Amino acid sequence: MASGVRLLVLGKQGAGKGTQAVRIARHYGVPHISTGDMFRAAAAAGTSFGLRANEYMTRGELVPDDVVIGVVAERLAKDDAQDQGFVLDGFPRTRVQAEELQRLLGPSGLDAAVDIDVPTDVVIDRISGRRVCSTCGATYHVNAPPKKPWVCDKDGGDVVQREDDTPEAVTKRLEFYEKDTRPLLDFYDGLGLLVTVDGVGEPDDVFDRIVDGVEAVRQLRLSSPSVP
Ligand SMILES: [Zn+2]
Repeated sequence: MASGVRLLVLGKQGAGKGTQAVRIARHYGVPHISTGDMFRAAAAAGTSFGLRANEYMTRGELVPDDVVIGVVAERLAKDDAQDQGFVLDGFPRTRVQAEELQRLLGPSGLDAAVDIDVPTDVVIDRISGRRVCSTCGATYHVNAPPKKPWVCDKDGGDVVQREDDTPEAVTKRLEFYEKDTRPLLDFYDGLGLLVTVDGVGEPDDVFDRIVDGVEAVRQLRLSSPSVP
């Protein structure tokens, strides 16, 4: 196992960010910090912050910058992230968040920003074709359905389309991505931190591309310490 890294993962919804972030975190032995998971946990615990964040998420809207930044700053201050590093998933989503992260970490605080690049028509197909077991959360796709029509293979639960997986909801989230998140690619490119990876294909292959890309950027930065 390679040890220690400070990364963030960018990409459209449906690009496979979550899956890859978990694998990268395991590979480097660092915590996977998912803002979506943190918001859902806070909402389930019924904290006022969690309920507020959840309101935005169920409307398909972005949680405001000040709320997200506060939560992430608190999490990054914990020992595991301080000592080993982290993989950030779902943060930053806006330029304001990205600048605040740089301020929190300092100029040499990030090893790379990984962009998992998947064409828009591919993510719309992945998400709008997705069906989820309402009991256990197992995921299927209209092209890879359960054996018995829309009954979960694992536990016989109803397999349904989630409300926020309709093409309309997906299109709305992609608009946010284009407006707010895509400019981050230029931001990180300007800092010499951007690693763009082709996100189409088998998850194992995408993972290998990510690790190769991250190692290449780290080597480059080690050999030219004057890079900001
Ligand atoms: Zn199930």
